[in-house]
Amino acid sequence: MIARGRKLYERLALPLQRTVKIIPFAYRLGRAYRETARLLSAADRWDDRQIRAYQREQLNQLLELAIRRVPYYRRYQRLLGRDPFDALREIEPVSKQQMQSALDDFILPESLRARAHVTYTGGSTGRPLTIHQNHDAVEREWAFIMALWRRAGYRPGDRRATFRGVEFQSGSRETVRENPVYNELLLSPYHLSDEHLATYTQALAKFRPQFLRGYPSALAVYARFLQSRAGNDLPPLKAVLCGSEGLLPGQRELIEAAFKARVYSWYGMTEKVVLAGECENSSVYHVMPEYGITEILDSRGELFAQIGTSGEIVGTGFLNRVMPFIRYRLDDYASITGDHCPACGRRHLLLSSVQGHRVQDGLIGRSGALISMTALNLHDATFQGVRQFQFVQREVGRAEVLLRIGSDFDPARLAVIAQRLANKTGGDVAFEARVVETIDQTQMGKGVYLRQLLPVGRTAGLES
Ligand SMILES: [Zn+2]
Repeated sequence: MIARGRKLYERLALPLQRTVKIIPFAYRLGRAYRETARLLSAADRWDDRQIRAYQREQLNQLLELAIRRVPYYRRYQRLLGRDPFDALREIEPVSKQQMQSALDDFILPESLRARAHVTYTGGSTGRPLTIHQNHDAVEREWAFIMALWRRAGYRPGDRRATFRGVEFQSGSRETVRENPVYNELLLSPYHLSDEHLATYTQALAKFRPQFLRGYPSALAVYARFLQSRAGNDLPPLKAVLCGSEGLLPGQRELIEAAFKARVYSWYGMTEKVVLAGECENSSVYHVMPEYGITEILDSRGELFAQIGTSGEIVGTGFLNRVMPFIRYRLDDYASITGDHCPACGRRHLLLSSVQGHRVQDGLIGRSGALISMTALNLHDATFQGVRQFQFVQREVGRAEVLLRIGSDFDPARLAVIAQRLANKTGGDVAFEARVVETIDQTQMGKGVYLRQLLPVGRTAGLES
C-alpha cells in the first residue's frame, strides 16, 4: 500500500525502517503491484492483435463505468454497447480547465469512492488539478515504472540514489538522507552549491548506488561540477534515470559524459494517462499500450494515432477508475514517428520531440517570434565553469541570463555567452549575462530554466 503506507513508514525510526527491508520487495508493494508486474512481463512482446485485445477490454470497462456512473459522461449513453474503439472516437477531448471547473461531475459518486485518495498535479503553471484515484492505481503505476527501468538494467531492490524534492521541503538543513526500505539514498535537489555537491559525492562514494535518479536540470548542475574537478569520480553507475521533465538538447550528452553511464528517460504525469519510455537500444519514447490509449490532436482539431501526426498529446488512462481520464488533453506536444521500434521489436507507438507547454513557451524575440528553450543549446563549451543558469524575460526582444558559477569560470566569458546566445536567436533577442549567488529553485522541474515575466496577454497569442 504505497499511498497509505508511506506516511506511516516515514514516522518509523531508521533502525525500524531497516527491518522492513527483510520483506521481499514485491510484497512490500502490494497485490496490485505484483499482478501488474506479471502482466507487463507477459505483455512485453505482445503482437498487435494481443495489444488491441487487451486495450479493447480495458477501454470497454472504463467507458461502461464512466458512462453509467460519472455524471459528465451520462451524455454518451448512446455509446453503450458499441465497440469501445468506435465509442472513443465519439467522445470529445477534455482539458484540465474543463475538469477543474466542474470537478464533481468527473468523479464517481461518493458512495462508490471507497479505497481511494486525493492527489494533485504538480508543475509550475496554473492551478493544480485535484485528482481522486483508487489506491491501487499507485501500485500499478509503480509496476509500469519498474518495467521501464528494467530496460536500463534496474531490478527491484537495486541500490539507487535519488534527487527528490518532497522530502526536503520542510525548511530543514538536512540534504542527505537514507531510505533503507527502498535501498535508496535521498539527495536534496534544492541544495546544489559546490559544497553540497562535494558532500553528495562523498555520500555516493560510501553508499555506492548502481543507479542515480533525478531531474535532468539538477543532474546537469551536478554534471558540470564533476567535469570541473579531476579525480572526483563517482563509483561506477549502470544508468542515470531521468524523469519528471524533458531533456533539453545537449543535456543527455553532458550527463552521460560526466557520470559515465547511460541516461534513461521516460514521460509520464500525475493524471496517469500516458506513460512512455526509452528501450534497451533506443532513446525514442515507446508508449506503453497496457497503461492507456495515446492519441495526438492535430492543428485542425482531429485526433489520430497514426505515424506522421504532430500536435497535442491526448491520453485515456486505464489505471484510475475513480476519476476516469478519457481523451484528456495534456498540453504537451509530440509527433508519432513509428508504430513499432526497429531496435527492440516492441509493437509500441513511438513518440518523438515531446515538449512540455512551459518549455514550448520560450523567449519572445523583437520580431514577435517565439524562441523555444530547446533552440538554445546551453550545454556546449561556451558554458564552461557555469554550474546553473536561468533566463529572465521582462521585455520583448531582451533577456537576462543569470549564472551561478564555479571557481573555474573566467569572467571574460560573460560577454561571449551573451553574444553566442544572441547569435542562436539570429539577433532577435539581446542578452545580458550576469553572475548571481543563488538561482530561484522554488519551481523545480518544468520552467526551472525560464522565468517568463512578460504580461500574459503578450504571449497568449503565440501559443498555438
Ligand atoms: Zn525499442
